[in-house]
Amino acid sequence: MTTTSAPLTRTDRRLLALAAAADRRLADPMAGFVDLAGVREAVEELTEAFAPLGRVQHTVAAKACGLAPLLRFLGDLGIDAEVASPGETAVAEAAGLRGPRLVLDSPAKTTAELAHALAEGTAVNADSFQELARLDRLVGATPESVLGVRINPQVGAGRIGDTSTATTGSKFGIPLRDHGNRGLLLESFAHRPWLTRLHVHVGSQGCPPELMAEGVAAVHELAEEINAEAGYRQVTSLDLGGGLPVDFTSDEPGPTYAGYVATLLDRVPALADGRYAFVTEFGRSLLAKSGFLVSAVEYTKVAGGRHIAVTHAGGQVAARTVLQPEHWPLRIGAFDATGTPKTGPEVPQDIAGPLCFAGDLLARQRPLPLLEPGDLVVAHDTGAYYFGAHYAYNTLPRPAVYGFTVSPSGDVAFTPLRRAQTLAELVADAGGEFLGALPEA
Ligand SMILES: *Cc1c(COP(=O)(O)O)cnc(C)c1O
Repeated sequence: MTTTSAPLTRTDRRLLALAAAADRRLADPMAGFVDLAGVREAVEELTEAFAPLGRVQHTVAAKACGLAPLLRFLGDLGIDAEVASPGETAVAEAAGLRGPRLVLDSPAKTTAELAHALAEGTAVNADSFQELARLDRLVGATPESVLGVRINPQVGAGRIGDTSTATTGSKFGIPLRDHGNRGLLLESFAHRPWLTRLHVHVGSQGCPPELMAEGVAAVHELAEEINAEAGYRQVTSLDLGGGLPVDFTSDEPGPTYAGYVATLLDRVPALADGRYAFVTEFGRSLLAKSGFLVSAVEYTKVAGGRHIAVTHAGGQVAARTVLQPEHWPLRIGAFDATGTPKTGPEVPQDIAGPLCFAGDLLARQRPLPLLEPGDLVVAHDTGAYYFGAHYAYNTLPRPAVYGFTVSPSGDVAFTPLRRAQTLAELVADAGGEFLGALPEA
């Protein structure tokens, strides 16, 4: 009987990377890590799941983790990018994703942004009737860009208000159920033969797949209506947005892409009839599980009977978790200075960050083996919206981020995705260049 060693799991890879990072002092005092094999697996799962829908352009929402090397890595795997600001556009373009490989979504696109997208052939989803009127003045007879309209299907909120975008009064898209809007949309398409796409994004984390499918059903129905009025297939593609929720409570996958596609096809079987091409814009579900943050424990203390471990990972890298802990809890792992999991009786501990406000806690009263100075804490599932979305409180630097791969024999190779911000860069960000320009006091 022969035995072949099982392939390394995500958990195996993380443990090996952690030990190697501790050995090489990469998390000194804090760094982010991205499991590149994990990202590749997520991409494979995504593309396989959506295969029944035919022609699909998959994009990654740049705001989830807009690191240029990561966008390039994803680009090489066939994933384009959804961008929502001039900065995200510039980073994606620098990573080699330009023109039709980009989709521009933002409620606040300037004329300059629209003109740039049109010149590049980048797809644009107009967010309002006013933006459509602006596009009228910019679009030529036969634009190269695919142009669409973001619809707010007004299907309601998920569990988290801040990231639910399809409520009755949401700031995003054209509200489909508001009085008169359906007629105005039909008219808008009738007057603009260059409008060929509808876009919907119901929300991000906390929206059940069934609610997302309601939004998709609403735009599919509207597309059919527009095409019936037009007498030809004017709307040729549907952008389904992102928003698949992630399970932050375990290493197990949460809702899968395959499950989501099954939900979509259950609700709207016609999606598989080949008459529409599709775009997706997933962020969190593509990246969250492949990233983790590592910080050294600088000090520990006991206050009023509470055990507190003071680390370097706080609101600057985990703003949502710190400010809305009830909505964005993170799993925390306790490791010693060599990256070995700590053992021993569990003691409820606060995992504090370095920021100067009392609520800067990554976790509260979390049962963990008692932490000591020099230990490492790991914040799991932080590959999306954490180290990619820095909050510049207390002038703390953006941490370094490393991608890693693990060979079948367990050797870990790190590749930098971003270096830590330097003190000189922090001074420059603080207006340092204008120190000499002040009038005399
Ligand atoms: C944020 C956002 C996404 C990505 O959402 P995830 O929850 O990260 O998948 C996609 N499309 C739009 C328009 C967004 O605003």
